[in-house]
Amino acid sequence: MVNLHGKTALVTGSTSGIGLGIAQALAQAGASIVLNGFGDVEAALASLRTMGVEVIHHPADMRRPDEIEAMFALATERFGGVDVLVNNAGIQHVSPVEDFPVQKWDDILAINLTSAFHTSRLALPGMRAANWGRIVNIASVHGLVGSAGKSAYVAAKHGLVGLTKVTALETAATGITCNAICPGFVLTPLVAAQIDAIAQRDAITTDAAQARLLSDKQPSGQFVTPEQLGNLVLMLCSPFGDQVRGAAWAMDGGWTAQ
Ligand code: NAD
Repeated sequence: MVNLHGKTALVTGSTSGIGLGIAQALAQAGASIVLNGFGDVEAALASLRTMGVEVIHHPADMRRPDEIEAMFALATERFGGVDVLVNNAGIQHVSPVEDFPVQKWDDILAINLTSAFHTSRLALPGMRAANWGRIVNIASVHGLVGSAGKSAYVAAKHGLVGLTKVTALETAATGITCNAICPGFVLTPLVAAQIDAIAQRDAITTDAAQARLLSDKQPSGQFVTPEQLGNLVLMLCSPFGDQVRGAAWAMDGGWTAQ
């Protein structure tokens, strides 16, 4: 569907979960990849190298503008710039507003929202020079609706949807598009932690907690997969995506249809 040979994709938070799934889809389409994130970096690198593409990793902490700038400097030095930017890094914390740890609020806003401003401002000049580019912001259903206990996350994701719209308008007459994807629950380490918390709180098995989590919100009763999200990113990178601009595209098993 899309040929990304000769293009470079940078995916923040791509050492696990959704980001890794998206990086793998972009690599399958032929893009060189800049990985970012913590944890098992070697396993992530190895899974992409088997696809025969060039891949590098930069450990920039998305809370640190100076480190984000260093990551872009490396991408420019190695590949000449970034053609596809996927802002995916994100963390979660669940707690009522009055108990919400202040440092957690700051970290969630920095990683889930402000980092996308920094990466976008650094990527756009090269995209404008090429008159082609794709910015995909991995928001969430929580960019569209709220859930109790997730104040910082919901605020950040609504902000990310807003940033997406403005970036799309500022690039509307160019070959650059900017869109947000709004996934429902995906079974990654970020959600596994919430399932464990439900199992502990309600004294039920992990399987029962998983079913409870889904039945509360996601009518399909099934998780969205990183592979499905990766293929949506590929569509946005293809010519079929040329006029998809400023969208907040839900892939949520029916969550926000309710
Ligand atoms: P995950 O925990 O599996 O992966 C998060 C990634 O971000 C990892 O690679 C981690 O190393 C990286 N990361 C964390 N803090 C970082 C920092 N300070 N600097 C750089 N990288 C950092 O989570 P996931 O579920 O794959 O989530 C990915 C994105 O998708 C997040 O933005 C999340 O909000 C969003 N999302 C997830 C779900 C879901 O159900 N899992 C649903 C909707 C949206």
